[in-house]
Amino acid sequence: MRSPEALAQRFREANLKVTPQRMAVFEVLGTGPGHPAAEQIHRSVVEKLPNVSLRTVYQVLRELSELGELVMLDLGTGAVRYDHNLTQHHHLVCDECGAVVDIPAHLTEVQYAGVADLGVSVSTAELVMRGTCSPCHAAGSTTAESTKPSSQPTMQQLGDPHA
Ligand SMILES: [Zn+2]
Ligand SMILES: [Zn+2]
Repeated sequence: MRSPEALAQRFREANLKVTPQRMAVFEVLGTGPGHPAAEQIHRSVVEKLPNVSLRTVYQVLRELSELGELVMLDLGTGAVRYDHNLTQHHHLVCDECGAVVDIPAHLTEVQYAGVADLGVSVSTAELVMRGTCSPCHAAGSTTAESTKPSSQPTMQQLGDPHA
């Protein structure tokens, strides 16, 4: 993740003007959580600059993607997410809360069987894992412990009429 100043410098090098709108997007990206959708970024930007349209936010995000400073992700969560973690990693999407967690992993061991026969070549591969994030995992294990004792008396109550 780069600082707003570093992103501004990249824009200048690409002969793009560093407008207040662009700077506001850079600042939101630098402070926000990992994988926001454009709507989330827009909501934070208008807190600083109320007149910035969602369309402008999309445009700045596209420019950042083209400069290689952002990665657009489709994780099957219904909206494109923008990732400013540029180190190699994959993603886990939480089944409980939808959180996206960065998983550092290298897919060097993947065997592309049959790819040569298809006449294609593979340059990159992205892995999207499903599971539970750390907070949901912690909450889930405590819930499981607390529901077990209460479910047993229910079974005994059902059995009571026969006894
Ligand atoms: Zn979760
Ligand atoms: Zn990520």
